[in-house]
Order: sequence, then structure tokens, then C-alpha cells
Amino acid sequence: MTSVSDAPLCLGELGDVAAAMARIGEQVAAPVADEVDQAARFPAESIGALGAEGLLGALVPRDLGGLGASFGEVSEGLVALGRHCASSAMVAAMHHIQVACLVRHGHNAVLRDYLAELAEHQYLLASATTEVGTGGDLGSSLCAVETTGRTFTLEKQAPVISYGSFADAILCTARRAPDGPPNEQVLVLCRPPGLLLEQVGEWNALGFRGTCSPGFVLRASGDVASILDDPYDVISTRTMLPTAHLLWSSLWLGIASSAIDRARRFVQAEARKHPGTTPTAALRLAETNALLLQFQELVRGSLRRFEDAQHDPAQLEGIGFAIAMNSLKVTASTLLVDIIRQCMLICGLASYRLDSPYSMGRQLRDSMGASLMVNNDRIMGNNAQMLLVHRGE
Ligand SMILES: Cc1cc2nc3c(=O)[nH]c(=O)nc-3n(C[C@H](O)[C@H](O)[C@H](O)COP(=O)(O)OP(=O)(O)OC[C@H]3O[C@@H](n4cnc5c(N)ncnc54)[C@H](O)[C@@H]3O)c2cc1C
Repeated sequence: MTSVSDAPLCLGELGDVAAAMARIGEQVAAPVADEVDQAARFPAESIGALGAEGLLGALVPRDLGGLGASFGEVSEGLVALGRHCASSAMVAAMHHIQVACLVRHGHNAVLRDYLAELAEHQYLLASATTEVGTGGDLGSSLCAVETTGRTFTLEKQAPVISYGSFADAILCTARRAPDGPPNEQVLVLCRPPGLLLEQVGEWNALGFRGTCSPGFVLRASGDVASILDDPYDVISTRTMLPTAHLLWSSLWLGIASSAIDRARRFVQAEARKHPGTTPTAALRLAETNALLLQFQELVRGSLRRFEDAQHDPAQLEGIGFAIAMNSLKVTASTLLVDIIRQCMLICGLASYRLDSPYSMGRQLRDSMGASLMVNNDRIMGNNAQMLLVHRGE
């Protein structure tokens, strides 16, 4: 049976959840963001602060002990967190995407109890979808679940699991059975004591360094009820893909906003040096600010689209919806790089230096990851195929 729960994922105003995430971004994440980036270390302070305020259970329904926040609130909170520390915001976004999958597709008693436990103990969830051999093709798995009676076992060669060493549990894709085709997948909640991670290599990346995303061999076993009830293609289409693209885009918007803030301060400082004149870069700032407004409207419009469709499987599985959510990811990740590049032209050398208040080093490096985490060409390839049969709407 497949269904979409009535979990309160809806577009909201900047409420308590978003305000608390913004405060944590400013007071906890910002002071250590450069150090987290330089040391490529897990942003324990900000994720700990989110947990201390119950925010890791933001999307868990109230009747299970969570905050029952709207998806819009979490999105606003990620924009705010992303302004200060993109790695913290990416960890939080990935966690909330996994929680959304559990809330909307984990119907059995074991998984509902787990969500209550997550809200109580503020567990952090990670994701293992990418696999050695299939790469970014998330719709196929080589590894398979093997079941004996009520127990499953699973082994996956995962080239990248963000904050794998710091997570309390990992949602992992796999083939439903060893004799099943690569695209007949399930999503499995892998958790201690049945979860063993063997780290393979290090994470020394250009950006999102604080996500601590090395490779692992993931070995898991447990109760078959830990396998989410809905098939993975349903979970992916109705929840994982749209929420990933919405929440990633939200934190990317935060990165872009922080770059514009620096560019604006730079132009204002220039203007103060030469009263009565408008700095040359002011025009570029105006143009770049227009890009940021487009970016904001794209995220807000896409959130509304998801909110309208969220309880309607037919809409969520429609080609038009999939094309829109894919386009959101590709456009947002492209706008992000464009905005950073423009902001660097505005601030000039001051943005290129790493020791200046206008430095864009971290924003530039983080922004380059956006188009790769599920490659934009792969996503556009999917849209190209869908457009061959789409009748428009
Ligand atoms: C910061 C960061 C954090 C991440 N965290 C996680 C995580 O926690 N868990 C997880 O599972 N994954 C994670 N990933 C991995 C991510 O989701 C992608 O799966 C991964 O980046 C894809 O790697 P790839 O570019 O090597 O592979 P591919 O997507 O396979 O791309 C490799 C190349 O092949 C091309 N290509 C191959 N097939 C096609 C096709 N059909 N259409 C078009 N082009 C194609 C691409 O254009 C590209 O040039 C993370 C990635 C990043 C950057």
C-alpha cells in the first residue's frame, strides 16, 4: 500500500522554528564557520544547538513528540543558517529530508516508534543513496537487502555519506532482494546496534567541508520493519526528490544572500568614501540583487507548488511536477554561482582575499558543490526525456 501521510508539511511564515534556526545561525554557527571550513570538521556546535532546542525533530508530527513545523518554516530556517555556515545548513537540510521520508512513508509501528524516539533524543539522520558502481544514478542499486525470517542484512559500498561518523542512523537505498532488478529499490533505516560503518578514505573537498563526507562500507542488519513501507521510487518521487531540491535550494539561497550582503556593504562603504557619487559597482549590485529576488521567488513558488501537491499522489507523480522540481535544483544551483561571481566582481580584490571582511572564498567554494550533488547534466537529461512525452499544462 502506498500513501502520503497528513504530516504538516506546508508553506509557513517565519515562525518560531525559523527564528530559532536564524538565531543559532547567527550566534552559534557564524563564530566558528571559518574554522569548521578550514579544519573540515563537523559543526558540532550548531547541530548540537539545533538538537538542544528540539529542532532536529522540527518535521516530526506533534503527536509523536516533534515540533510539527511546516516545511516552509524549515526552509526559511535553512536560508538563515546558510547565510552563516553552509556546512551546518547542509547537514540540517539532509537530516530534514530523511525525516520527511520517514514521516511520510514510514507507516509501520516500528518506524512510528522510531520517529518518537528521534524527537525525544534528537537523533541526527544521514543518507546513503550514492553507490560505488552506479554513482549519481540514485534510481539504481547494486547492493541488495537479504532477509531471513524477520531479519534483514545489507552491505553497501558508499563513496560518500555526509556526517556518517556523527549520525545516529542512516537511510540507505538498496535493491529489494538479491534477485531483483537494480531499479526495484527500498529505503532502509539502518541504526545501531545493527549498523557498522567502515570509513574508506578522507573528506578533503573544495567546499561543504564541514559536512565530513568520506566513503564508507555500510553494513547493517535489523528488523525487516526498518524497511520503509513504500517502495523507493514512490518515496523518491513524492518526497525525497522534491524536498531535497527545495531544502538544498533554501540553504543555497542563504549562501547567495550572504554574498549580496557583503557586496552591498562594500558598495555602501565606497559610496561613503565619495559622497555625492554613485559607485560604478552599484549598477552591478542592482542587477545582482534582481537575480537574488528571482532566486527567492523561485524557492517560494516551488514551495507553494509542493504544498499544493503534497497530499495528492497524482500531482506529485505528474511529469509537470517532476520537471518543475528538477528545474528548481538546476536553476537554483546555477543562480547561486552566478550571484557569487557577480558579487566578486563588485567587491574585487577584497572578495578574492581570504583575510578581508568581503572575502567570498567560502561562498565560492561551497557554491561549486551545488551543481554536482546529483549532477545538473544528469537532472537535465531526465527532464529532456520527460519532455519528449510531456503534454504541457
Ligand atoms: C557536498 C556533498 C555531499 C554529499 N553527500 C552525500 C550523502 O550524504 N549521501 C549520498 O549518498 N551522496 C552524497 N553526495 C553525492 C551526490 O548526491 C551525488 O551522488 C554525487 O555527487 C555524484 O557523484 P559523481 O559526480 O561522481 O557521479 P555522477 O552523477 O555519476 O556523474 C559523473 C559524471 O558522469 C556524467 N553522467 C553520468 N551519467 C549520466 C547521465 N545519465 N546523464 C547525464 N550525465 C551523466 C555526469 O555528467 C558527470 O560528468 C554528496 C555530494 C556532495 C558534493
